[in-house]
Amino acid sequence: MSELPCVSCGADIPAEASNCPHCGQRQMTRSTAIGYTTVGLPVVLLGIGGTLALGVPSLLDATIGVPGLVVTLVAVYCLAAVGFLHAYAKRRRLLDERPTRSGDETTQ
Ligand SMILES: [Zn+2]
Repeated sequence: MSELPCVSCGADIPAEASNCPHCGQRQMTRSTAIGYTTVGLPVVLLGIGGTLALGVPSLLDATIGVPGLVVTLVAVYCLAAVGFLHAYAKRRRLLDERPTRSGDETTQ
């Protein structure tokens, strides 16, 4: 089982642990990043968009309209997705920068 440093305290924790057992910091694992990007984020944005479109259509018509709402949601999605990937890449970089990289996994 490979380990990665915690993004907050730097302690070695299992690569797919969702939270640091030492400091409790939530970790951006690959599965977390993929889950946020493919499921969590679309659900949240569709929920917001649906609530606005169905709940306050008059407000929507008076402001940005449905096309504006769609563009806004897509833009938010892209920004957030890049943020998730960046957070994950940052964690991967922490691993790559470590002097003792786990290259001796065949010793056991
Ligand atoms: Zn930690």
